[in-house]
Amino acid sequence: MEDKITQFKEMVEESNNIVFFGGAGVSTESGIPDFRSKDGLYNQKYKYPPEEILSHSFFIANTDEFYKFYKEKMNSLKYEPNITHFKLAELERNGKLTAVVTQNIDGLHQKAGSKNVYELHGSVLRNYCMDCRKFYDAEYVFNSQGIPRCTCGGIIKPDVVLYEEGLDDLTIASSISAIQNADMLIVGGTSLTVYPASGLINFFKGKNLVLINRDSTPYDNRANLVINESLGKVFEKI
Ligand code: ZN
Repeated sequence: MEDKITQFKEMVEESNNIVFFGGAGVSTESGIPDFRSKDGLYNQKYKYPPEEILSHSFFIANTDEFYKFYKEKMNSLKYEPNITHFKLAELERNGKLTAVVTQNIDGLHQKAGSKNVYELHGSVLRNYCMDCRKFYDAEYVFNSQGIPRCTCGGIIKPDVVLYEEGLDDLTIASSISAIQNADMLIVGGTSLTVYPASGLINFFKGKNLVLINRDSTPYDNRANLVINESLGKVFEKI
């Protein structure tokens, strides 16, 4: 393991255009549950499975029920960034890292100081009135009573990509561009089985592809370096 971490450090040293692609594993180390995992958000007290509650049609038909779940389970305001978030922000400040592409919606990269973050699934920090598009922050939504409403009376919707909804074209295009131009791609905390993670990695043409994940992934044989360790244990060393 020490050899691999040394190798990882050398790769970071020689790279000047690093992109980090992160999944749920980045946030679980801050204590945020991964609702796709078996012990994640599944909870008997809800009448519906999380995938159904977090779908577009459910939001429209059962907005009240959606917000009960959303406010209790998706509130990331009480969580803090971890060592991985902070180190990535530091690499960006030092001109080594150009972008973070994330599947997480909790805003912890920005809280740690990262500026160029592409959020494939949106963010709980941004919310808009469905009628007049007025912006509302996360505090407003999570602290509201019942369904959060705009001053115009419209219903506020979080800018997160629900099931049945498409990803934002510009975010995808920007992520692809960043990955295409990177000399090093670090993929962390994702099993790379969920779209679009798998597809995005195919755009990487740079020198060093590094996968950091507790378990193996379908892409291990294509990587220059595979570290089966928690992200925090790796990033605390650089
Ligand atoms: Zn409005």
